[in-house]
Amino acid sequence: MKPLLGILASAAAVAVAVTAAAPSAQTPATASAGTTAVHARQVKRLVIKNAMVIPGPATPAYGPIDILAEDGVIARMGNSADEHWPAPDAIVDATGKYVMPGIVNTHMHWHEERVGPLPIQYERNLYLASGVTTAREVGGNFEKTKQWRAESAAHTIVAPRIVLYPMLADLLEKNQTFNRTPAEHRALVQRAKDRGADGLKLIGPMDRDQVAATLDEAKKVGLPTTVHIAVGEATARDFVDLGVNCIEHFYGVADAALDGIQDFPPEMNYSNEIHRFGRAGELYIQNNFDHEKLSKLLDDMVAKGVAWSPTMSTYEAARDLVKAQNLPWYKDYLHPSVEDYYQPSMTRHGTFWIGWTATQEAKWRRNYRVWMDALLEFGRKGGTITTGDDAAYLYGSLYGFGVIRELELHEEAGFHPLEVLKHATVDGAKILGLSERLGRVRLGFIADLLVVNGNPLENLRVLNPYGTDLMSYNGQIVSNYSGIVKPGDPNVKMVHGGGIEWTIKDGIPYHVPTLMKEVKDMVNKARTERSRTTSQPQH
Ligand SMILES: [Zn+2]
Repeated sequence: MKPLLGILASAAAVAVAVTAAAPSAQTPATASAGTTAVHARQVKRLVIKNAMVIPGPATPAYGPIDILAEDGVIARMGNSADEHWPAPDAIVDATGKYVMPGIVNTHMHWHEERVGPLPIQYERNLYLASGVTTAREVGGNFEKTKQWRAESAAHTIVAPRIVLYPMLADLLEKNQTFNRTPAEHRALVQRAKDRGADGLKLIGPMDRDQVAATLDEAKKVGLPTTVHIAVGEATARDFVDLGVNCIEHFYGVADAALDGIQDFPPEMNYSNEIHRFGRAGELYIQNNFDHEKLSKLLDDMVAKGVAWSPTMSTYEAARDLVKAQNLPWYKDYLHPSVEDYYQPSMTRHGTFWIGWTATQEAKWRRNYRVWMDALLEFGRKGGTITTGDDAAYLYGSLYGFGVIRELELHEEAGFHPLEVLKHATVDGAKILGLSERLGRVRLGFIADLLVVNGNPLENLRVLNPYGTDLMSYNGQIVSNYSGIVKPGDPNVKMVHGGGIEWTIKDGIPYHVPTLMKEVKDMVNKARTERSRTTSQPQH
């Protein structure tokens, strides 16, 4: 008999028994009633069998058990052989796999263009393949995203659930001027509400009166807010005092902890991306960085329920450019429009790599250490931390891959993998106001579930859609700390495996190897077109 819900099996024992399941590039055969699930096909009752469950709120994994998703909701958990269970329409076999809640990406943007066109399905597939079942867009094309939000909810497109947090500028009418008066801010907040936004994303250097008007109006109309704090009069101190709900990135937090201001050199030009990003990498290592002031700010964030979406993976190229330029998944999965966007440029946002120096990297690395300590302190005080990737601006941050890298960086900051997965699931759902329905593997919750080839608690990298290198012993994946492996043992091999096998959103299974095959095809097609146009004779 299988252990019932709440009776814990030995996770360690199961981890060793995981089979070497490298994702296959084939869609499973068409299902008849009660057989293997089919990619992107909605059924009334989907059963996931033999799952080791990671519940979400940083409690240990348990299992194996079966899960029934009925009409998109987790309806039963236990033993599907039980006579009270209805017959399933489709089955996902999770034997040897781990099942966790779908990931909430709290910071992303939909792009149909980078340098040249980009098929929107490329980004949708990559996010689903990385386990993202909910995507909060924090700035983009308002009407398009609104349409996709409806289509995703109706399951007429293959995409994560979409939550729409426009920037105020996204709501301007054609040719409308915006002089940034408090009254104009209020009017745009009202327009966001009227047109169906789920929340608001504030950005740019703001003065305190602009922040006060915007947040006051947002509260009046009932829209939650998040902010990218630029170097302006208002720092995190002002946003926290005036009632923002979430802070993106790292700027603003450190500014609020300085005694005085950052020591900008005389040539500093905030419009120059090299100056802006280079000096941002010195923010947490300023001589006047006051740790007591930081702690007080973090206390106040916790007390007022202000979450932090740090997007650490976004900036990683700044601390290791050569690595960011040479990630192994570019070969098959980097679309040429994104590849071109990444190239050093004085005009595009975030592409400040011209003459990037070892000293600039060294400063960014030290900056990360202090930033990570601040994030860990915030978490230990009880703060809500979420995961976003803000991909396809800075080199190396690619849709979805960036989310998984974000998880690794949260672990590097000092969080336990169970806590990291809580950031990505339970805490993400919480800041969207969906914590009573989303972000956990729990009865009555929305069936957003990831069926993972391997144990993410042992290695978060198994969630990477490219997969990862693993140790195989006699054909079975084992921990490389396993006692059964002896030095010189010829039965040990390195194999490529991992990856999510199925991303289930609203009870609909999406087969990740199929999604990634489609991504590869899109990339190949674009490369062929690109080489055709660039091989034209130049005049
Ligand atoms: Zn962004």
